[in-house]
Amino acid sequence: MNPTQEANIDALKSRRIGVLGYGSQGRAHALNLRDSGLDVRIGLRPGGVTTAQARADGFAVATPAEVVSSSDLVAVLTPDMVQPQLYREAIAPHLRRHGALLFAHGLNVHYGMIEPRTDIDVILVAPKGPGALVRREFEHGAGVPCLFAVQQDASGHARQRVLAYAAGIGGARTQLIETSFREETETDLFGEQAVLCGGATELVVQGFETLVEAGYQPEVAYYECMHELKLIVDLLYEGGLAQMHKYVSETAQYGDLTRGPRVINSETRARMREVLAEIQDGRFAREWVAEYAAGNPRYRALKQRDLEHPIEKVGAALRAQMGWLQAPKPVAKRAPRSPIKSTGTGG
Ligand code: NAD
Ligand code: MG
Repeated sequence: MNPTQEANIDALKSRRIGVLGYGSQGRAHALNLRDSGLDVRIGLRPGGVTTAQARADGFAVATPAEVVSSSDLVAVLTPDMVQPQLYREAIAPHLRRHGALLFAHGLNVHYGMIEPRTDIDVILVAPKGPGALVRREFEHGAGVPCLFAVQQDASGHARQRVLAYAAGIGGARTQLIETSFREETETDLFGEQAVLCGGATELVVQGFETLVEAGYQPEVAYYECMHELKLIVDLLYEGGLAQMHKYVSETAQYGDLTRGPRVINSETRARMREVLAEIQDGRFAREWVAEYAAGNPRYRALKQRDLEHPIEKVGAALRAQMGWLQAPKPVAKRAPRSPIKSTGTGG
């Protein structure tokens, strides 16, 4: 049977699920699991901002260690960089034998920052979308496609458990794809670095700068290079390249087919291979862990530069006049910005 049809919540019925972290993914998973009829409690550090949100949503909140000791399955949904310490202090000493440890991203396990006890199940459910979407789709009776993986099966029930969790958050209503911790981690990092967050934003900014330095109005450049990207992405999302070709003009298509490969070319491909190689051999992970341990000086400086770019100024002014753009509803009040942003891109 294919996993999407095979998945059901039975393996987690009358089991206790502990969700550590109540941010983007944590809140969405917890609400969906509860609406699926499962028993969920939330583990958070005392006093955090998301604690108030979890309580307001009607959840019992306790410390991570307390929640782990009383759970059959623990979902680790805190930022990736705090997970190793959380594992050492709150999970490893308290998780019951044959309990299950679930991740939404394989980073820490794959690169050995967490070496899980051998008597527990180690599983992964990675929704291919941000938490807000995981919740919204569920409320509409649908779900976000999920990758799932079993790294370690100590109980003999790891597969049923991981599928039950994926079903509980709504993933089995659309599509579940089996993967490994390695494949999920390396492809997720590559996607966010080369194509989604890194590649797409760099393409936008370079296009904007090219037009502005050639003397065109920044407002016009903004619409062309940033705003309209959504319209193209929506077409790609709905129906791939064919859908885009169907809706853009013949002139746009001819320009795309003849000029696109000059902008993104074999040089770009060589850089993509380098980026992938650094992910595969662990260089990226080591660099990020060291940066985080040093207090994120480079990360902060680079991010500040991004936020001060002229495209941000002109964009803010233009968006303020776009009456049709509603401010996205916050998923959960975020804690005052912790120095890191999760590596999850929404996928
Ligand atoms: P987030 O930053 O939105 O939320 C983090 C939560 O953890 C908050 O409730 C915060 O208060 C809590 N927290 C922080 N430090 C803690 C600690 N030491 N102990 C206990 N709680 C602590 O995180 P997120 O973006 O939802 O990411 C969670 C996991 O999901 C990560 O592994 C990430 O890679 C993965 N993921 C995220 C997305 C996404 O769209 N954001 C998509 C797929 C996978
Ligand atoms: Mg991703």
